[in-house]
Amino acid sequence: MRASSRAAVLEEFGRDVAVREYEVPGPEPGAVVAGVDYGGVCGTDVHLRHGRLPIPVPVVLGHEAVGHVEALGDGVGSDALGGPLAEGDRIGWASSIACNRCYYCLIEQARTLCTDRVVYGINQGADEWPHLSGGWADAIYLRPGTTVVRIPDDVSSEQVIALGCAGPTVAHGMARLGPVPAGGVVAVQGSGPVGLAAAMAARLRGAGRVVVLGAPANRLRLATELGVADAAVDITEVTDPAERLERVLPETEGGQGADVVVEATGDPGAVAEGIDMCRPNGRFLVLGQYTDQGSTPINPHRLVAKQLALTTAWGFDASDYVAFLRSLPELTARFDLARLVSVYPLQRANDALADVAAGTVTKAALAPAH
Ligand SMILES: [Zn+2]
Ligand SMILES: [Zn+2]
Repeated sequence: MRASSRAAVLEEFGRDVAVREYEVPGPEPGAVVAGVDYGGVCGTDVHLRHGRLPIPVPVVLGHEAVGHVEALGDGVGSDALGGPLAEGDRIGWASSIACNRCYYCLIEQARTLCTDRVVYGINQGADEWPHLSGGWADAIYLRPGTTVVRIPDDVSSEQVIALGCAGPTVAHGMARLGPVPAGGVVAVQGSGPVGLAAAMAARLRGAGRVVVLGAPANRLRLATELGVADAAVDITEVTDPAERLERVLPETEGGQGADVVVEATGDPGAVAEGIDMCRPNGRFLVLGQYTDQGSTPINPHRLVAKQLALTTAWGFDASDYVAFLRSLPELTARFDLARLVSVYPLQRANDALADVAAGTVTKAALAPAH
């Protein structure tokens, strides 16, 4: 196990992250020290940097990561699925540990709403022991209670990070949405990692046709090339929502609207648009409104007159993470996930953040070993 680790630290909101050095603590019983192979850069990290969510600083960012076992604490002999775990094994881990004591954990069994979660890369300050609580580092300290899963041999670490937190977020959303009708039409608003993951998940669940609305053009092209989208609408080209609807409806059976619409934009205005894209008795999953971007006018009559089922989903928990990892062999067999990833060395974390903010890359990942 290494003695020290570099880490990319957000010291102050609005400022660039800085690379600092920390001692790597030996693992206590139940803990794991992991070497990081890729630390994903997510749209949420851009929001965190600007102080749009209440988090402690300084903080080592990186809530999505994949790596390998450097040291196992006493009592850790297996992963979350019961398989053996040994030094050197490639692993992924759920980004949060629910408290298992609060009302939402114990009574509602809705652990994404846990009021006392540990979230790596977000709510564990870098000044607090064990300091290395984020994935933008050479190493991360995984506390007892972390859901650790060994990565199947036929799945590369790059493929895992390609869908970073988007994959499990979509797994959670899809679990709440329920089945996608076999052969049905799914419209996905948003072509970021969550939108693309939603389109892929819809395909895996039997969707017959997937329409993706988003930008920029290079992401839409990639979505089409990878076989994720059958049709794509560039929202920077088609700027009028009514015109966008006219593009989507002919892609649906009888022009009546999509069986399922998934919102993955983060833009409040997309919600009203999504309602119009659903067919009567259709279902609408709102997944992308992770930060508060303000209010938006919607017409509740349209929801009711079409008898739409509106579902929302907040984040993901350990079981969603496991569900996502279990889907990876099938996902990677169908889609070339590694093509989504742009790799940066750790010291270029600020460039990666800027590129994610600008949307010039689909998925940025920091690779400390590069
Ligand atoms: Zn994220
Ligand atoms: Zn809880």
